[in-house]
Amino acid sequence: MSQTALLKGRAALVTGSTSGIGLAMARALALAGANVMLNGLGDQGEIDKTRAALAAETGQDIRYHGANMLKAEEIADAVQKTDEAFGSVDILVNNAGIQHVSPLESFPEDKWDAIIAINLTSAFHATKAALPKMRRGGWGRIINTASAHGLVASVNKGAYVAAKHGIVGLTKVTALETAEEPITCNAINPGWVRTELVERQIEAKAGDLGCSVEDAAKEILSEKQPSMEFVTPDQLGGCLVFLCSPAADQITGISLPVDGGWTAR
Ligand code: NAD
Repeated sequence: MSQTALLKGRAALVTGSTSGIGLAMARALALAGANVMLNGLGDQGEIDKTRAALAAETGQDIRYHGANMLKAEEIADAVQKTDEAFGSVDILVNNAGIQHVSPLESFPEDKWDAIIAINLTSAFHATKAALPKMRRGGWGRIINTASAHGLVASVNKGAYVAAKHGIVGLTKVTALETAEEPITCNAINPGWVRTELVERQIEAKAGDLGCSVEDAAKEILSEKQPSMEFVTPDQLGGCLVFLCSPAADQITGISLPVDGGWTAR
């Protein structure tokens, strides 16, 4: 089967796909033949350009829904509009996420609430809305972008680690509730990926250590990621397409670490 035929005719919604990992995942799905509903925040002009570029590169129907992952009704509407645009919702990637780094004693309540809502609760709302459509279509793939922090912890990331451990749990429950159907649910657990979300942490580290940004990048790798290389968004897109392929039909409920050995220690 050619790579383009793999997901031909499939309809995908990827939350948080205006940048970083989500955008690479959307691209990987489109290159494999799926039509994709993008989602995320950002400048509307830039989003329009991203959407048009992806459509031109892949030849697929690429659309955009601006649902805010803090709002249940908007999330349900993104699922509904995906169904109306493409005639089904076959693949749901719950990927939107934010970070805030602070010790627990000074962790701002509003940041805690936003991280739990965007990184965890939004996946519940999207999964709840998508499952009936997958059942109607007789096929479904739900992939949750978790993190190495869904499996192990780090200091000063209380909300993020709680949300990512939570989404690993939600992944298992979704897998069990769909186990006898042609629907699977899995998590992908990246280590450090050099996106906007991490660039800010590298810059903060450079400030703390009084060193260059590149030296700070090496430092954060040496603390956690034995390969000493960043995972690339395209590698995560490849893992996603694998989890949507027939080879993965019996893989459900897993967390797939893509972390250069982070969680092997
Ligand atoms: P990113 O900042 O580049 O992308 C985050 C995406 O989420 C963007 O499209 C953004 O617009 C969207 N988003 C944020 N808040 C939103 C909201 N309220 N409503 C709708 N969309 C919203 O970061 P990234 O690194 O690509 O992160 C993507 C996912 O990967 C996140 O879940 C993150 O936790 C996870 N992750 C990242 C890394 C890493 O090292 N970068 C590692 C493990 C897991």
